[in-house]
Amino acid sequence: MLDDNARASRQVAEKRPQLQISFEFFPPKTDAMEERFWDSVHKLAPLNPHFVSVTYGAGGSTRERTLRMVSRIKSETGVDAAAHLTCVGATRDEVDAVVRGYQEAGINRIVALRGDPPEGVGQPFTPHPEGYRNAAELVGGIRRIGDFDISVAAYPERHPQSPDWQSDIDNLKRKLDAGATRAITQMFFSNTDYLRYLERARAAGITAPIVPGIQPIHSFKQIAGFAGRCGASIPAWLSDRFEGLDEDPETHALVASAVAAEQVTELLDEGVTEFHIYTMNRSPLALSLARILGRRPATGEH
Ligand code: FAD
Repeated sequence: MLDDNARASRQVAEKRPQLQISFEFFPPKTDAMEERFWDSVHKLAPLNPHFVSVTYGAGGSTRERTLRMVSRIKSETGVDAAAHLTCVGATRDEVDAVVRGYQEAGINRIVALRGDPPEGVGQPFTPHPEGYRNAAELVGGIRRIGDFDISVAAYPERHPQSPDWQSDIDNLKRKLDAGATRAITQMFFSNTDYLRYLERARAAGITAPIVPGIQPIHSFKQIAGFAGRCGASIPAWLSDRFEGLDEDPETHALVASAVAAEQVTELLDEGVTEFHIYTMNRSPLALSLARILGRRPATGEH
């Protein structure tokens, strides 16, 4: 057992130099949420992430807050920050103006998305008559404005609106061919889904990084609901592990940490070297995952 542990630690240490971790946050809506947001940012920033990103609310509802948070993260922590952007309910000119705003604020990373209709995830998407019709068009528009590092979304279980695998992978290829640098995946809980997706993408000639989006389960109830809405499935073994833990936060947290640790160590063994962690603006599980990936804060206070 000791030997196995020592070997595992050594493997992590050996892989450490090439490892890249990014963290995703969402713009806080209230003062209390803002406090937790900054607390998490300040705890995770010393881990030297590749970048952190801040999402863009439905219908552009968080435009100002996204820009404010991203700019402040960059100036306060020195960490590179990416602003998400969607094309929902806006003309091309309006979206381009947001891109120029990012550019003027010194933000050179964008996570470019189509977004979902205001009626909710899974409802048919109708582009604005003068807007970008999808993420691939948005990437092209951003590229025309400046030399941004652009990430796009990928779906190991297929986007719910993709009729088949071929169109899903074709769509990812269009986004990368339009000028995106990398893809970041939707959350997934079966590594096999991700590894098969990777194979499909590589077989289609896609060479860009497809970074796994890791969702630590701070609340199984909440994450399961969210996963259901965005087309990510919850395997039966995962529901079993969290069954009956709604009222037992300590055991829930320990199980969540073990589940996330298993997921990333398995991916490390498969040769994965980049991870995008969905923090939900909470630091504890993200911190423990980063530790498992061999990261220590630069200041050494943890
Ligand atoms: P696209 O890649 O444009 O397309 C999605 C689907 O539409 C395709 O799979 C295909 O079925 C269809 N489609 C697109 N183009 C064509 C075409 N030319 N012909 C035929 N069919 C087509 N949402 C937010 O609102 N804010 C965020 O900040 C945000 N961040 C995210 C970050 C990540 C890493 C991920 C994975 C998702 C994020 N989302 C966010 C959710 C995202 O907006 C939704 O999943 C949305 O439904 C699809 O966006 P997309 O960029 O993948 O769309």
